[in-house]
Amino acid sequence: MTSTTHHTRRDGATEHYDAIIIGAGVSGMYALHHLRGMGLSVRAYDGAPSVGGTWWYNRYPGARVDGPSAPLYGYTFSDELVKEWDWTESQSSQPEVHSYLEHFADRFDLRRDIQLETWVRSARYDEATQRWQVETSTGLRASAQFLVCAVGALSTPNTPDIPGFDAFEGECVHTGNWPQTPVSFSGKRVGVIGTGSSGVQAIPEIAKEADHVTVFQRTPQYTVPARNRPLAPEELAAVRENWETLRAGMTALPDADAALPMAPGNGRSAFDETPEQRHALYEELWEQGTLAFVFRNYAELLVNEEINREVCAFLRGKIREIVRDPETAEKLMPDHFYGTKRPILDSGYYETYNRDDVTLVDLRRDPIEEMTATGVRTRSGEHPIDVLVLATGFDAISGSMLRLDPKGRDGVSLKERWQSRFHNYLGLMISGFPNLFMIHGPGTPGVLYLMPLGAELETEWIANCIRHLRDRGLGAVEPTHAAELDWDREVSALADKTLFPRTDSWYTGSNIPGKPRHFSVHLGGPAYFHRIAEIANEGYDGFVFTPALGERANAGSR
Ligand code: NAP
Repeated sequence: MTSTTHHTRRDGATEHYDAIIIGAGVSGMYALHHLRGMGLSVRAYDGAPSVGGTWWYNRYPGARVDGPSAPLYGYTFSDELVKEWDWTESQSSQPEVHSYLEHFADRFDLRRDIQLETWVRSARYDEATQRWQVETSTGLRASAQFLVCAVGALSTPNTPDIPGFDAFEGECVHTGNWPQTPVSFSGKRVGVIGTGSSGVQAIPEIAKEADHVTVFQRTPQYTVPARNRPLAPEELAAVRENWETLRAGMTALPDADAALPMAPGNGRSAFDETPEQRHALYEELWEQGTLAFVFRNYAELLVNEEINREVCAFLRGKIREIVRDPETAEKLMPDHFYGTKRPILDSGYYETYNRDDVTLVDLRRDPIEEMTATGVRTRSGEHPIDVLVLATGFDAISGSMLRLDPKGRDGVSLKERWQSRFHNYLGLMISGFPNLFMIHGPGTPGVLYLMPLGAELETEWIANCIRHLRDRGLGAVEPTHAAELDWDREVSALADKTLFPRTDSWYTGSNIPGKPRHFSVHLGGPAYFHRIAEIANEGYDGFVFTPALGERANAGSR
């Protein structure tokens, strides 16, 4: 890179950086570390009082990761970090993940460039200076050539619009924005709305403490035992010994003929086996628990209706076996294709409905009519409640970008651009929004890959793009709209090979009233990262580079 690096400058009330990062969670912190390492002046802002993003806010009882913490839920770029951090459970709890992220911030001295309790209220591109202008909740103004939005794919809570909501006089908490002060359920009647991953993790824990729990369920869910357990020192040692092979496996390209690039795959086709053999595999995977139920299942699981229906029938059988009251068991029966809503792991979820102090309300038959001062009124009557827990999820993937609503060239807002479709190119940039990069935005594999590793790889692409631009004395980069349309077709074509788009879920945005239905996750997994690297290496096809200010006359544009 040429020596165009600027250091922090201040003129009047405005601070100037090379890059501003919004968010100090898993992605934002890695972006800070990496971009700073290439000599840029970088500032990260986050509204929370601590680093960690989603892992700071989601501190509800039972919150934990669902993939194996070691090696999957951690950064991979530093062998030292892998070797010095001791995960204690197979699926780490929220406090442990948050401690890990704090350790990461300290270990790499990130805190001096992170400003906490500072919400970015507005971000506007100034074409005359080719810089982003940012204003924060603390009244601070800053500018930067590059804006990196690490705003989180699951960080804008979805709060349902229930009539009479403000009339409720009890306590109301959201799993996605859990209070910092402890919430006591002891001796209380608790209502929980929502039975996604957060609800399924929280409900058994709340039931252990509360006087009574009423679960308000809109869509029943399949869940598989988490089988969380302490991690033996030998297991951790084995991960460290085999680290290079494991890391290589995480980015290896799938078989060319895999049914789905990010596919489940035990290497067997369901159609080569008898129904009895298939049933034996499902039983074995159930016993094993964990996300192995998806990833060691048949390659056809997420693409073939017949096999998926067979798995659904197997899981419904498990619900009937576990839940003693047949009426409650019937209310718990899911009817969507397994895996097309985010697969869930649990620790005693279905068993919780065998308790006398837990009631299940099926909102499909008995919908919520209103909140009252003392509870929730459904069509069948009032359910008295002292504490209401909203486990109602997030405006996911595109939601946090829409909440930020940056204004691009000519003052056009992202909300206008994304009114009907979340147009982007490679999931990393948006036409009309020069020098703005997203991490884990729509169009990336984000939520269906490994979040920390995905953040590393996306950041590396962003860093290379910045280097490319600066080495050539260029000032701005953005994709063409034609490239966005091609990308949209590519993402949709992958999704359409699967059963995913056939189910309403937060993947499709259907959990948010009025949001366009758009399955925006790139299902390529590792293949996605090879693809974006190839586009960069071959000269950034689909991008337009603009000469730097004052150098327009002698620098070419692509
Ligand atoms: P979610 O999966 O979107 O679940 C939200 C729940 O609230 C659903 O049951 C939904 O019903 C219900 N709901 C939403 N609005 C409602 C309304 N107006 N009335 C009644 N019910 C309503 O959200 P989440 O459980 O927070 O999980 C989101 C994602 O975060 C997960 O899928 C996962 O990727 C991640 N996460 C991971 C873990 C982990 O284990 N590592 C834990 C928590 C979260 P419908 O299904 O009908 O929309």
